[in-house]
Amino acid sequence: MRNAVEIVGVNIDNITLTDAVIKMEGYLDGDRLNMIFTPNSEILVDAVKNIEFAQILNSGDLVVPDGIGVVIASKFYGEPFGERVAGYDLMCRLIELAYIRNKSIYFLGGREGVAEEAAKRLRQKYKDINILGVHNGYFDDEEEKLIINDIINLKPDIVFVALGAPRQEKWIFNNRHNLPSKIAMGVGGSIDVVAGVTKRAPDFYQKAGLEWLYRLVKDPKRIFRILKLPKFILLSLYDAKTK
Ligand code: UDP
Repeated sequence: MRNAVEIVGVNIDNITLTDAVIKMEGYLDGDRLNMIFTPNSEILVDAVKNIEFAQILNSGDLVVPDGIGVVIASKFYGEPFGERVAGYDLMCRLIELAYIRNKSIYFLGGREGVAEEAAKRLRQKYKDINILGVHNGYFDDEEEKLIINDIINLKPDIVFVALGAPRQEKWIFNNRHNLPSKIAMGVGGSIDVVAGVTKRAPDFYQKAGLEWLYRLVKDPKRIFRILKLPKFILLSLYDAKTK
């Protein structure tokens, strides 16, 4: 049985990174597409306002708590998460798994050149890693058809989708019957970290639950996004108390 906590209407798996990796190994051996989503506070605030987005997140096969806000909220519901599972960490473990098990990868998303750079860096780190294709995340409807055809022809085992939320989750959901893959995962800005375009917060910030602060200092434009964190805390507190 799935051990999940319903937080502001979205079921989030109470799972450790290690167990999530075991699940992903199973997905790679399976015969259908599995959707992986990594909601943080900001995404969950959006899901409260957008029921369609909440339903898409609820259709995920693996939905992990990415962010300190989600971990705090689980305590309000009396079902604390064992740990925070950062989307970036999960992505890195899946890349490692793909390398070890010789599974193939496609990167969709990021600004022009970012997915190429991510692929280049991974080829330096993991010789012979099987990256079948990449495409940036800025395309029109016509181009999108070509991208989907490309993915269908290439048959990658894993598709990493970095189109920002909620676009990437919607894209995965809308294409779930077209994708010939075992895993499609929404990764957002993690593709920029893999490409070396942005840096992950140092360990200190991660351990202190202050990754959001590091990102804010590095990119003050995020202030409006970060403000969703206290909003999420209040929303989840209210939801937990009125359940
Ligand atoms: N992105 C994209 N197409 C879009 C919007 C965003 O490829 O139409 C990419 C953007 O270039 C960046 C990532 O999506 O690489 C950012 O995603 P998000 O905002 O979810 O990042 P995070 O919250 O992880 O920083």
